[in-house]
Amino acid sequence: MKNYIVSIIFSDIADMLEIKGENFFKVRAYRKAARAIANLSEDIESLIETSSLANIEGIGKALEGKIREIVTSGTCAYYEKLKKEIPRGLVEMLKIPGLGAKRIRTIYEALGITTIDELEQAAKQRKLRGLPGIGVKTEQSILKGIQMLKGKMGKMLLSTAFYVADEILEILRSYSAVDKVDVAGSLRRKEELISDLDIIVSSKDPVEIADVVLAYPRIAEVLKRDENRLSVLLDLGIRVNVRVVEPRSFWIALHYYTGSREHNAKLFEIAQKKGLEFDESCVVKKESGELFYPESEEEIYGLLKMPFIIPELRENKGEIEAALEDKLPNSIEVGDIRGDLHIHSNWSDGMNSIEEIAAKAREMGYEYVAITDHSKSLKVARGLDEERLFKQIELIKKLNKEIQGIKILTGIEVDILTNDLLDFDDDVLKELDVVIASIHSGFGQDREKITQRIVKAMYNPYVNIIAHPTGRILGKRESYDVDIDVILKTAAETNTLLEINSTPDRLDLNDNLARKAKEMGVKLVINTDTHELEGLKDIKYGVWVARRGWLEKEDVVNTRPLSQLLEIFNKKRMNGEKK
Ligand SMILES: [Zn+2]
Ligand SMILES: [Zn+2]
Repeated sequence: MKNYIVSIIFSDIADMLEIKGENFFKVRAYRKAARAIANLSEDIESLIETSSLANIEGIGKALEGKIREIVTSGTCAYYEKLKKEIPRGLVEMLKIPGLGAKRIRTIYEALGITTIDELEQAAKQRKLRGLPGIGVKTEQSILKGIQMLKGKMGKMLLSTAFYVADEILEILRSYSAVDKVDVAGSLRRKEELISDLDIIVSSKDPVEIADVVLAYPRIAEVLKRDENRLSVLLDLGIRVNVRVVEPRSFWIALHYYTGSREHNAKLFEIAQKKGLEFDESCVVKKESGELFYPESEEEIYGLLKMPFIIPELRENKGEIEAALEDKLPNSIEVGDIRGDLHIHSNWSDGMNSIEEIAAKAREMGYEYVAITDHSKSLKVARGLDEERLFKQIELIKKLNKEIQGIKILTGIEVDILTNDLLDFDDDVLKELDVVIASIHSGFGQDREKITQRIVKAMYNPYVNIIAHPTGRILGKRESYDVDIDVILKTAAETNTLLEINSTPDRLDLNDNLARKAKEMGVKLVINTDTHELEGLKDIKYGVWVARRGWLEKEDVVNTRPLSQLLEIFNKKRMNGEKK
């Protein structure tokens, strides 16, 4: 599959165009195409053969030609031309939290800086302050961002890691000498950022397995190869470890390498007390010296008189104690979700019509779906004003009469403005089924101000959900400065739902905060916030965060039937209107 390489080149082109200051729509076209191709389940080469590239959302004639060029030659002329024009270091700088394309261009034009190291130097020497649009605060945040980036270098998003792992698993599964294969490590525990991919393979022929993996085209360097282990570095800067074990050792090895280290340490201590010794290939009964090969992970936990602990919980954060007392959470599953309550249509900055979104949601087995476009102040996203919003409500009413098998809810993602007002008045908000409030501006405000903005929104009786509550973008932007304890407390008090946003680089709230929210009596909602159809499938990332956060089905309101969901919204509304 060459999907990945096409996707990476397109996203690179988008970055470079942005630094050049090219037209917003052109940049966006490349970015959306990159995402659509990354999410594609078919092989892009076979789409070329059947001339069906144009069926991919957002791929027009111009992009189609470039895709053909990349698939045949590994690159395209336009990309090569841009690479000569824009120094590589400038593109790298886009990864610095809080540094956008516009500022990068300003710094480049004023100081001729082309690498992150030079940029760090200049910030330390206080040469950035005073450039157009850059003050002392921005200079400090750039420096902080560089340090953050350096700490995270070599880590990738969970979604990217799964994409790469799936390619490798696919190669291995097609090979007859392979008995079983699966991912282990932080990937299997679904951590939000991944530094190493761990893959466990069982086979009678370890040597051949290594050769199969070495044929994977993205390998840049072999770091280590011995009898049953292969470590390679991919051209994406990611390290992959493949461990080959005998068929009878598969489950114990998979468990051993799924970790975390702290979880294993505690577990092995308990095993010791029971006269059992665990290693990566078998369990040893110490007294008799007998070797034992469990045939499932359930059996492994059973040896220690515990129920199975799902990989997402294996962090030694109380799960072993809970297992011993039979108090593990009944973890939420992807299939529990009955509807997505945060979706953008082509009325604002989404790609699809409401009809298309409804059809896709129905295909996914959902009972309801909410259309929540941006509000008028978010001009870059073509936010809706009152007039267009009311037109949209009319359309949805009409569609609900025509379309069977799914209920479309009216909604809005209303901006919490920097002056702490909402972008729409209450008499507009009260006309909608779902109101999401969120912050998209004024990220630099102080803690008190930002906290106050969100708290005030939660006291509005028509606001049902706070979206992406901390505002972080993984690897790009730290959360705004907010007193999260006050937010959680107010959410519980006002019956406002907090979102787990499933966008792979948001995952906001994160696992720890989701768990804390539950403990404080806050209800949550898991949404994709998608801008395109394929993104509806990203819901799994949010559910995984919830599983890591010990959440059960009952803690997440969009696992409930429509009538119960609307009751929850209504309750807050009526309480608020009474006051
Ligand atoms: Zn948003
Ligand atoms: Zn949104």
